[in-house]
Amino acid sequence: MKRRDLLKYFSLGPLTGAAISAVPFKSAIAAPSNKPKRDMVKELGLRTFINAAGTYTFMTASLMPDEVMEAINSSSKEFIMYDEVQDKAGEKIAALCHAEAAMVTAGCWSALVLGTAGVLTGMDLEKVAQLPNVDSFEKNEVIVQKGHNHDYIHALTNTGIKPVVVETMDDLEKAINAKTALMYFLNESTPHGKILHKEWLEVAKKHNIPTIIDIAADIPPVENLWKYSEMGFDLICVSGGKAIRGPQSAGLLYGKKDLVAAARLSAPPRGGNIGRGMKVNKEEILGMYAALDRYVKQDHEKEWKEWEEKIAIIENAAKKVKGVTTEVTVPPIANHTPALKISWDTSVVKTTPKDLQARLREGNPSIEVMSFADNTINITVFMLKPGQEKIVATRINEELTKASA
Ligand SMILES: *Cc1c(COP(=O)(O)O)cnc(C)c1O
Repeated sequence: MKRRDLLKYFSLGPLTGAAISAVPFKSAIAAPSNKPKRDMVKELGLRTFINAAGTYTFMTASLMPDEVMEAINSSSKEFIMYDEVQDKAGEKIAALCHAEAAMVTAGCWSALVLGTAGVLTGMDLEKVAQLPNVDSFEKNEVIVQKGHNHDYIHALTNTGIKPVVVETMDDLEKAINAKTALMYFLNESTPHGKILHKEWLEVAKKHNIPTIIDIAADIPPVENLWKYSEMGFDLICVSGGKAIRGPQSAGLLYGKKDLVAAARLSAPPRGGNIGRGMKVNKEEILGMYAALDRYVKQDHEKEWKEWEEKIAIIENAAKKVKGVTTEVTVPPIANHTPALKISWDTSVVKTTPKDLQARLREGNPSIEVMSFADNTINITVFMLKPGQEKIVATRINEELTKASA
């Protein structure tokens, strides 16, 4: 950057620490203060913590990178027509996901609602206004496998549809009838269903039934963004605020052009529909696009290596304590990132995972880890800020050592 450009850059407003250190001559220019004028976190006495757990909704999932905040801040200063933001961002997002069309939704959950609504109504505004009263609709049933029929099915039933639960291929063929509107697949539940993607899609194509898939937390790997539409799913639903690190309130619906257009009829800015409360503001729409653009273009191999290195630092610190065992696994579908399990011989290390979790939480700095029913502490590093792996490693070693005394 030339000095003249640099000065112009600096005159644009407050900069973040990261932006300052990225440019030369920093010592020649007084660093603008990084501190917010009003620190709400402090003011309300909110506990912040090092997130060594993962992208959990109750932990506010992920942190938005500077590029996302720049998109949010810069777009917050002007009015823009809502549909124009959705159109333009949608085109860019569709291109990044190798899809025909896309829209930003209020999370993956709302992508499931709006996608289902679009399938039920098409471009018929009378039908849009009728939802969730779909009794009179020619098609109002959605087929779901038994192992996929939990939690998130509520997104679909919100539209008024009736879920029809199947287990085997035989059940599936029998369940299909003139009222079948849609076939729904929950990707993370693949191992809990008897029917796999390919067979599911073959039956759907044979009977000309649209398909929707929930891949909320299944990015990374980045290729999953286009894998399922290439496989033949008509609508794909993704969380924006998990590993992609967009706004936590945002998500993506993409796939067939006519279906995305129909889904938008049940979403803001239009009212008189079931999706009026599923609003994402223009800043979130653009922030979501910025996050996805950044995510798709980043060096995924390098990131994976960094995760492995961070996991190794924590693993080695834990293993130094006698009686402690560790294991590194990578979940094949959701939250596909290295995960460290720490367990111990309780006759040597006299504490429980729940107690250790509580002590890490109560320490300074506060650290969140997961502790599951299998009596282990579970750690991921993909939500750590640079350097935090060392703090986590030290604290875990400290607490395990203390419990061994
Ligand atoms: C997180 C999640 C959702 C909900 O996603 P939001 O973006 O929080 O709305 C839906 N399905 C699955 C499988 C998830 O993991």
